[in-house]
Amino acid sequence: MLTEAELLAKVPTGLYINGQWVEGSAKTPISVEDPATGKTLLTIANATAEDGMKALTAAADVQDSWAKTSPRERAEILRRTFEIVRDRAEEFAMLISLEMGKPLAEARGEVTYGNEFVRWFGEEAARIGGRFGSNPEGTGKMLITKRPVGPAFAITPWNFPLAMATRKIAPAIAAGCTMVVKPAELTPLTTLFFVKALEEAGLPAGVINVITTSTSSATSGPIIADPRLRKITFTGSTPVGVRLLQQAAENVLRTSMELGGNAPFLVFEDADIDAAVTGAMQAKMRNIGQACTAANRFIVHEAVADEFASKFASKMGELNLGRGIADGTTCGPVINKDAQDNMQRLVDLSVKEGADIVTGGSSLGSEGYFFKPTVLANVPEDASILKEEIFGPIAPIVRFKTEADAVRLANNTEYGLVSYAFTKDLARAMRLVDSLDTGMSGINTGLVSNAAAPFGGVKQSGMGREGGSEGIEEYLETRYVLIPNL
Ligand code: NAD
Repeated sequence: MLTEAELLAKVPTGLYINGQWVEGSAKTPISVEDPATGKTLLTIANATAEDGMKALTAAADVQDSWAKTSPRERAEILRRTFEIVRDRAEEFAMLISLEMGKPLAEARGEVTYGNEFVRWFGEEAARIGGRFGSNPEGTGKMLITKRPVGPAFAITPWNFPLAMATRKIAPAIAAGCTMVVKPAELTPLTTLFFVKALEEAGLPAGVINVITTSTSSATSGPIIADPRLRKITFTGSTPVGVRLLQQAAENVLRTSMELGGNAPFLVFEDADIDAAVTGAMQAKMRNIGQACTAANRFIVHEAVADEFASKFASKMGELNLGRGIADGTTCGPVINKDAQDNMQRLVDLSVKEGADIVTGGSSLGSEGYFFKPTVLANVPEDASILKEEIFGPIAPIVRFKTEADAVRLANNTEYGLVSYAFTKDLARAMRLVDSLDTGMSGINTGLVSNAAAPFGGVKQSGMGREGGSEGIEEYLETRYVLIPNL
């Protein structure tokens, strides 16, 4: 196993444009920080708007030739990339843990999950289909084919540095689209390391281009406004997604938006409470609560609310906070000082509004950005914390009396990404699946993500799906041809 310094020495620090690693034109480089120590891990290139346009030009110039490569060739590049990432799984895991803070065991899970998109879409590349039939009048043949959308722009968040990138890059490659990728400035190293794997797997120059920048808006704006771009795919917060949709409207771009969440986690009186607590730990604490799928509101039947709160708090209290790569760490830091301050604000506000702290409730230590895993009980239905995405290790519990109440509370949000429900009653579970207003649901589980499943939300959680057979469709246009019978 490499040491931390040896690993960091292997990570490219430039922009990747047209198959070359190049310097950024901005004078000040980007410092990538370790959230567990607040210290700089690496400094990397900082792109300007001009660099962004060079990346788009590279992508646009090879779009036609890339679209003409055989699906098998694209699939083979993805398969080789999958194997390289699998061989370097420990290095990827360590890098994710260093820049994002999650415990090594979880980072290993992200490598497996993130790399699965590479394998899955490699397999999908050779299965892009179409339709053929007669028109209803019987006067002609209808041919429906698929072709790549064209050059795409991907913007990714900091919380899953590998998976959020592979979920976009792999289907684009499989479909025959070229792409400019802008990873989050807080955790760009894993994407750079991944692109190195693509390069080694034989990806032609210009197909995938990566720009890291501290001026997201100024660098992205001209790319989105350029008529050569045909698609934007974004994962991040709803306010930024709304802004990008407005910009995308100017050129009527195809858009895929994976935005914020405010997941309800329902526990009914007939649930297996221990299983619900295990599910709650997964749904709340994966990624230190910094996941779009994180359970944000625990809606628990009044008959089991105390038992659930006390068992959940005891598991939360057992977590061992530390640097992700350190032995024994089961919970890392939040991403930065702003996030840490925001956790304190939410706890203080909730207490003011009537909640009780069962465990946690404050920051930990003077180095890094740690916040104690926190359970809040007796949170009032109209508390502020239930209306925003917490994005950290705080679990507010609200009580309910009837199933109708639970559904009303669950749907009382502008978000609609995922919901979780724990009940042993199958009929109730099926009613919930129909009545919960979310793109995904987990029944008696706290984890739904899978590369083979369509991931995405409704309402202000976004549009489009990533993963599954649906994921590649986001990068394909449908074309219809009529051939009259002669
Ligand atoms: P963010 O919206 O602040 O940033 C996301 C990305 O957008 C980053 O790369 C950032 O640099 C870039 N960005 C910000 N402003 C921009 C602008 N004006 N123009 C162009 N790019 C801009 O989100 P974040 O803090 O990185 O991530 C957390 C958010 O992401 C949460 O809301 C979370 O729910 C969401 N998320 C959603 C999913 C999903 O699949 N639905 C998955 C992961 C994270």
